Amino acid sequence: MSQITRREFALLAAGVVAAASELPRPALAAGSAKVVIIGGGPGGATVANRLKSADPNLSVTLIEPKEKYTTCFYSNLYLGGFRSFQSITFDYEGVKKRGIDVVSDTATAIDTTAKTVTLAHGSAPLSYDRLVVAPGIDLKYDSIAGYSPEAAKVMPHAWQGGPQTWILKEKLLALPDGGLVVMAVPPNPYRCPPGPYERACMIAHFLKTKKPRAKLILFDAKPTFSKQAVFEEAFNEYYKDIIEINLTNEIDDFAVVKVNAQTGEVTTKSGRTERAALANIIPAQKAGAIAAKAGLTEGDWCPVDPQNFTSTKVKGIYVLGDAAIASEMPKSAFSAMSQGGVVADDIIADLSGKPRPPGKYRNTCWSMLAPDNSAKIGGDYTPGVKDGKGYLAVKEPFISKPDDSPELRKQVNRESRDWYRSAVADLFGEEPQMASPGIQAP
Ligand code: FAD
Repeated sequence: MSQITRREFALLAAGVVAAASELPRPALAAGSAKVVIIGGGPGGATVANRLKSADPNLSVTLIEPKEKYTTCFYSNLYLGGFRSFQSITFDYEGVKKRGIDVVSDTATAIDTTAKTVTLAHGSAPLSYDRLVVAPGIDLKYDSIAGYSPEAAKVMPHAWQGGPQTWILKEKLLALPDGGLVVMAVPPNPYRCPPGPYERACMIAHFLKTKKPRAKLILFDAKPTFSKQAVFEEAFNEYYKDIIEINLTNEIDDFAVVKVNAQTGEVTTKSGRTERAALANIIPAQKAGAIAAKAGLTEGDWCPVDPQNFTSTKVKGIYVLGDAAIASEMPKSAFSAMSQGGVVADDIIADLSGKPRPPGKYRNTCWSMLAPDNSAKIGGDYTPGVKDGKGYLAVKEPFISKPDDSPELRKQVNRESRDWYRSAVADLFGEEPQMASPGIQAP
C-alpha cells in the first residue's frame, strides 16, 4: 500500500476525501459524461476535484467569474494581523492542471429541458449531463435602509472574500486611534455562524496592539450565538475595555435597520444610533442569485434532499454549500467540502448505474480568539426527517469549553492551521504562502 501523506491524513481525518480505494469506480459510460459546476468556492471546487480524481475521463467544467478566490475562512486572521492577504488568495491554475476546464464567466440561466447553462460572456451555452450549482451567498442589501453595494465600499461587509476583505483591512489601518468601530451582526441563517465573533476578537486584537484607544461595538440581531461561552470568556479576558456587545433581548432589538454611509451613523431597531469611524455592516443573506433565477429557492435558500444534495425544487440539479438548506449543518467551508464529496460520489454512482451511497457528513468550525488560542465546534451529520422535511441530524457534537487549558487551546489553534493548509491545497492545488504573517497592505 502506498504511503499516505500528512496532508492526505488531515483530509481523511476531516472527512474531505475518501481513500482512493473507497471511491466507487465509474462504468465506462461515465467517462464520456459532461458535468458542469457553477461556482468555484469550496463546494463547487470540491465536486470538480473529486470527480476528476475518481475518473480522469469525465468532462468536468467549473464556471467561476473570479480569476482569484480569497477565502473568507481565515480572512478574520488577516484583519487581526496573523495572515497576509496573499496567503488567503488563490488562482485556479492548480485546478486547471488537474484537467478541469475552468471557464472564467458567470452563469446567467439554466435550461433544464435542453440541459444547458447560458454564460454572461460566452458565445454558446454549455451543455451538461449532470449540473451542480454552488453559488454561495448574496447579500440582502435592502434589509438595512441606506445600505447598498455603493455604501458597502464605505461601510464594508467583508462577508464575501476579495475586494471587500481588503477594504475592511485598509479602513482598519486608516482608523484614527480612539476611533469607534461598529459591527452589525446579521440574523440567522447566515454564512459561518461563529464568524462575526471571531471577527470581533481579531479586530479587537488589532485595536489592542495598533490603536489602543479605539473601541468596538457589536449590534447583534440575535439573543444568543455560536460558541457564546468561549467567546464571552475571550471578550472578558483579552478585550474587556475594547469590545461592547449588545445582544437583542426582550427590551432592546439591536438589529441594525438603518445606516448612513456619509455620516457613519448606524441605527438599531430600538432606536440607538452610533456614529462610527468605521462600520462593518453584515446584512442578512440569501442564496447566490442564479439559484433563485433557476427556480431552486424556497424563500431565500435552496431546499435539497439531505441524502445527496439534489434539489427538491428542480429535478436533476445538485445544490450544495452555503446556498443549500442543510440544517442543522452550518454554512461553512468545511460543510461545503464535506457535501462536495458526497455530491461527487453520488454523481459517479448515478452515472455508473451503481447504488447511490448514503450521505455522511462532517463539520468543524474553528475560531481564533487570541494568539495561540482557538476554539472549535463540530460533529458528524446524518440525513433524517423533521417536521416532514429532510434535515441533517448532528451526531456526537463537540464544542470547546470556557475553562479549557491553554495547552488545549494551543493545540486547537494548530489543528485549525493544519486544516486550512490541507483544505486550500485540496481545493486549489496550492499551499498557502506563509512567508510573512505580519500586517501587510494587500
Ligand atoms: P462560496 O465560497 O461563496 O463560493 C461560491 C462561488 O460561486 C463564488 O466564488 C462565486 O464567485 C461563484 N458564483 C456565484 N454565482 C455564480 C454564477 N452565477 N456563475 C458562476 N459562478 C458563480 N468556513 C469554515 O469552514 N471555517 C472558517 O473558519 C470560516 N470562517 C469564515 C469567516 C468569515 C469572515 C466568513 C465570511 C466565512 C467563513 N467561513 C468559514 C464560511 C465559508 O467561507 C463559506 O461557508 C464557504 O465559502 C461556502 O462555500 P461555497 O462554495 O458554498 O460558496
